[in-house]
Amino acid sequence: SRDELTDFIREIVRGDLEAGRVGQVVTRFPPEPNGYLHLGHAKSICLNFGIAESFGGRCHLRFDDTNPTKEEARYIEAIKADVAWLGFDWGEHLYFASDNFEQLYAWAEHLISAGKAYVDDLDAEQIREYRGTLTEPGRESPYRDRGVAENLDLFRRMRAGEFPNGARVLRARIDMTSGNINLRDPVLYRILNAPHPRTGTAWHIYPTYDFAHGQSDAIEGITHSVCTLEFEDHRPLYDWLIENLPTPSRPRQYEFARLKLTHTVLSKRRLIQLVEEGHVSGWDDPRMPTLSAMRRRGVPPEALRDLAHKVGVTKSDSTVEMSFVDYCIRETLNNSAERRMAVLNPLKVVIENYPEGETETLTAINNPNDPEAGSREVPFSRELYIERDDFMEDPPRKFFRLAPGREVRLRYAYFLTCTRVVKDAAGEIVELRCTYDPATKGGDAPDGRKVKGTLHWVSASHAVRADVRLYDHLFNRPDPGAEGDYLADLNPDSLVVLNDCRLEPSLAESTVGKAVQFERLGYFCRDPETTADGRPVFNRTVGLRDSWAK
Ligand code: ATP
Ligand code: MG
Ligand code: MG
Repeated sequence: SRDELTDFIREIVRGDLEAGRVGQVVTRFPPEPNGYLHLGHAKSICLNFGIAESFGGRCHLRFDDTNPTKEEARYIEAIKADVAWLGFDWGEHLYFASDNFEQLYAWAEHLISAGKAYVDDLDAEQIREYRGTLTEPGRESPYRDRGVAENLDLFRRMRAGEFPNGARVLRARIDMTSGNINLRDPVLYRILNAPHPRTGTAWHIYPTYDFAHGQSDAIEGITHSVCTLEFEDHRPLYDWLIENLPTPSRPRQYEFARLKLTHTVLSKRRLIQLVEEGHVSGWDDPRMPTLSAMRRRGVPPEALRDLAHKVGVTKSDSTVEMSFVDYCIRETLNNSAERRMAVLNPLKVVIENYPEGETETLTAINNPNDPEAGSREVPFSRELYIERDDFMEDPPRKFFRLAPGREVRLRYAYFLTCTRVVKDAAGEIVELRCTYDPATKGGDAPDGRKVKGTLHWVSASHAVRADVRLYDHLFNRPDPGAEGDYLADLNPDSLVVLNDCRLEPSLAESTVGKAVQFERLGYFCRDPETTADGRPVFNRTVGLRDSWAK
């Protein structure tokens, strides 16, 4: 159970609660609304909401909307939908960093008045140059010793929109010789004459991440501000700001390793490029690592929560194999998904001794792992489809499926023997003529004879025709871009569309996004799209480990 989860961050939280350093635990998940959420975000969501759940606290959903040039309202709605789909509820605790703009501004003036912040006229390039490097101390800006009155006047005029973008910034006045570059007078505000999705044209200056984030934590009463490791070096600045401002609470920052995955990219900048340049059909293209893509592919949210749990929370970076993600999905679906029969690559079978025009109804169980899932009816008739791969005219010794003169079992039905192969003028097999044994109904022979292979099938006249989309890794190599442009590593075969698939009739009513197991083939779900001529489309969620073992 989730109560048994533990990791180094939960240990810290537990210690704080036991020592009385915090009363109620408050965490937050702080996405920037500049793209859709991906599997890396799922790890952070599971950790932040999971900690709140484990310790009877709460977790806020906070939009870190401080950069209006990159953020869009539609991303806000998509992010909310994804967090809810993953199974977490922020209740009333929905926040926007932009709601704090007035307070943040007042605190900036507070720092100026205390001589701890100043308006700098250096441009971005000069600031970078003056900042120094890891081995070289920084130099002080010539504007660093401006008086409080001049700083306040300039900062107010920045707010009023008197200056063009980039003309000035507000910087904290800390230490240009600090060994930590983040403490070398970091920028707190920049001029951006850009409208904001929520505050419109009210502001001409916007706080930086460093200034907005910790102070928003303090305003919301966050106790444990959990972020990824690249912010470890920002922690001294996080603490400096909290210590130098009259904040209502004292949050603390903790860092964990971000999720890295093979065969994909988890950077919003790159994901945006894939969408905008049409390398994928959209953010929810099932090949994308986004949560909306996972949902469309039929991945159950439990599988991603389980992934986050199994990957764990550590302080050192590691890369998780995409096949491990598939494993988690398969494990979840193996228990929960109902079974169905579908033929992806059909070969016609005519049962010569089965009465023409007759249909009988057979009973198929929905899920051998879940007796509660019940059963369904499947029609059987003289003409069927089986999988083309399940027949070989001249099979090798270990091939236990259908071949001339061979007998196999049709799942839930009868034994079937192939008597003749029908070919077209080009020599292609177009049809098999077969006989069945009526005494083997249900799949066993009264005389005790055995067959080695069991095949799935559908009744030809009852089947639903569909397109099936098979997905493979979006990138050919585990580390896209490791040698050159990551776009050059796109897998040209990441999508294969099969357009003559035949499904058992019950699949006509399947729910969009809810995966079922196509027996012996893998897990599939109905896509929201249909083909141009109205056929249903199914997505492969994940394959079976070994397609032919069962
Ligand atoms: P990207 O690099 O894709 O732009 P980001 O970190 O800028 O991601 P945010 O919207 O700021 O995206 O992220 C929200 C939260 O999710 C942050 O707390 C961030 O640390 C966390 N997060 C983002 N990517 C990962 C990841 N790969 N693994 C774990 N947590 C992540
Ligand atoms: Mg970020
Ligand atoms: Mg980002």
